[in-house]
Amino acid sequence: MTFAIDGWFAIDHDGVRLLGTRCADCGTVCFPPRHGLCPDPRCGGTELREVRLPGRGRVWSYTNACYPPPAPYVAAEPYEPVTLAAVELDEAGIVVLGQVTGLTVAELEVGMELELTSGPLADGPHVWMWRRAS
Ligand SMILES: [Zn+2]
Repeated sequence: MTFAIDGWFAIDHDGVRLLGTRCADCGTVCFPPRHGLCPDPRCGGTELREVRLPGRGRVWSYTNACYPPPAPYVAAEPYEPVTLAAVELDEAGIVVLGQVTGLTVAELEVGMELELTSGPLADGPHVWMWRRAS
């Protein structure tokens, strides 16, 4: 399996997990993972430790993409609208955007619980996606 982005998510015995970083000084969590200076301007910490982020969260907002994305993105032919959700991760305090599989925009609601899965993009590489929580 080829990942669309190396180092941003992993698939293992816990399922799909996003990979982030947590500042050792103030606890600020980041996704995607970053290195160097803490993003909190009040902190100044430089030790950002890699963490596996929670695999579940609640819908913060959602929409669909009814038009194919411009190049360099590859869209399916014929194009099928894609459902997107911004999900607030449990316990992490951050919101992560992702494609939703198995649900249409009409089926989503703010606050609905989703869990991570993965699936292929139109040109083949896998990326994290959201689905209804089991
Ligand atoms: Zn910090």
